Amino acid sequence: MDTDSYRRDFPALDRTVYGKPLIYLDNTATSQTPSCVVEAIRHAYYHSKANVHRGVHALSQEMTLLQEEARERVRGFINAADTAEIIFTRGTTEAINLVASSYGRLIPDGSEIIVSVMEHHADIVPWQLIGRGVTLKVIPMDDSGVLDLDAYRRLFSDKTAMVAVTHVSNVLGTVNPVEEITAVAHEHGVPVLIDGAQAVSHCAVDVRAIGCDFYVFSSHKMYGPTGVGVLYGRRELLEKMPPYQGGGEMIGHVTFEHTTFAELPFKFEAGTPDFVDIAAFRRAIDYVSSIGYDNIEAHERALLDYATERMTGEIPGLRIFGTAPGKDAIISFLIGDSHPYDVGMLLDKQGVAVRTGHHCAQPLMQRLGVEGIVRASFALYNTRSEVDAFISALSRAASMLA
Ligand code: PLP
Repeated sequence: MDTDSYRRDFPALDRTVYGKPLIYLDNTATSQTPSCVVEAIRHAYYHSKANVHRGVHALSQEMTLLQEEARERVRGFINAADTAEIIFTRGTTEAINLVASSYGRLIPDGSEIIVSVMEHHADIVPWQLIGRGVTLKVIPMDDSGVLDLDAYRRLFSDKTAMVAVTHVSNVLGTVNPVEEITAVAHEHGVPVLIDGAQAVSHCAVDVRAIGCDFYVFSSHKMYGPTGVGVLYGRRELLEKMPPYQGGGEMIGHVTFEHTTFAELPFKFEAGTPDFVDIAAFRRAIDYVSSIGYDNIEAHERALLDYATERMTGEIPGLRIFGTAPGKDAIISFLIGDSHPYDVGMLLDKQGVAVRTGHHCAQPLMQRLGVEGIVRASFALYNTRSEVDAFISALSRAASMLA
């Protein structure tokens, strides 16, 4: 993969931090954005900005077309059967909240939702907000970060109403066997939501091959604009679900006495959508598709293996969290007793951006017996020489903290 030529597509990578070249290893939190996406945003603001689905005039029709073409692109990208199954949201978080609050109204009091121990708070808290005695049952994992599927099978009861599991852990990098998880749930007649926030930037996703009922992800983690996310839902379930928010666009007909609702997907898209960013998101999909996931995965895996080997050999007191086979390009670690924040600060002063803290996964931190962790995560534009610079900076930080 010609990483150097791809790097030129990301102007942000050229900047310096404290006089040092930026080495951006916080891709799990958000990735940088290629010029083609920024250009699509600029073009829409300069030439086509008009509210969608509401105007007979040319600009509105143009913008509507751009938004609906993006929807079709997303459909193809995840191999959904129908564009009506693609709902635009603000991000993964809003997509899960939509399902929890809408589907949540259809489940009986005292229902049980199965989640895993490695969920992001976005896949924990929305289910808790259902209230009405709804509780979480948690799939445990082993020390390498692999989910215990036997334990998972034992969690089902006649109260189980949903399984909600992450495709890829944002802390451990574990790639969960979502096909098998889905098949087991379906044997019990239970629907499945997969949190794909960390999967879509690393691997091709096929929702029909997975068989899941809902799949959610954010544009900003896969080189797209902020403020856009996707909820894929199987039509049959979405049809049954009540609207999540009320307002313009989601209605059929409104009177003071009674309102009917629009067809899918608009029933779940109340108000003005983030149409400029949705249109630009299409460019991000085209961008990653043109590079190809086989190339991206191979490149990131090579960086992961190289960085892991060097860190393990050269950093005294290093502990890596998450060693599942086939894990994604995420390295979470601690050095001796050093506070993750101190490690992160010392790396930052050397131009290296990593993330520190609980990574919105406090129950996982509890399982790992730590308060927080340092996380370095790789994207298609990172290079071997950046890994070298990261290891040198980490060695320096480790010796200062020793
Ligand atoms: N789920 C996972 C696994 C994540 O890593 C994240 C963000 O880091 C989210 C959900 C929430 O995504 P967003 O903040 O884009 O809604």
